[in-house]
Amino acid sequence: MWLKAGLLVFRVGSRYSCLEFRLRVIKLYCDTCQKFLVDRLVEGSCPTPCCHYDSAQGDQCEKCGKLLNPTELVNPRCKVCANSPHICDTNHLFLQLPLLEGNVRDYISSMSVARSWSQNAIQATNVWLKEGLTLCSRVNLTRDKKRKQK
Ligand SMILES: [Zn+2]
Ligand SMILES: [Zn+2]
Repeated sequence: MWLKAGLLVFRVGSRYSCLEFRLRVIKLYCDTCQKFLVDRLVEGSCPTPCCHYDSAQGDQCEKCGKLLNPTELVNPRCKVCANSPHICDTNHLFLQLPLLEGNVRDYISSMSVARSWSQNAIQATNVWLKEGLTLCSRVNLTRDKKRKQK
């Protein structure tokens, strides 16, 4: 299973809910740099048929505009050392924001007044809240550290 048992239990309303869960994340790891590569540190060939742009970025192909996941690139390269990274599994800890939506709304209402947020900040936050906090807006609480080559 992708989801593993949650570790942190919070009281939400009258019940207790699990706010944390672990999720298996597939990322690119560079053996030379000894680190997981964030999107901006990867480039390769675009996987889109009829494009195959050779310098597509880890998050998007600038030629055809397709949004990409770095693991979709054909022949990915580390932008730091130019070597080929490999796909690696890693476990990350996520926070389920939908369970905190009421708390987040209350916090933002009070803090935007108390801290004199700019109108732009308030509007942007309200747009974000209006779209709803879904599982897709979960917060990743962890980062991969460098690790030794196997
Ligand atoms: Zn590298
Ligand atoms: Zn492309």
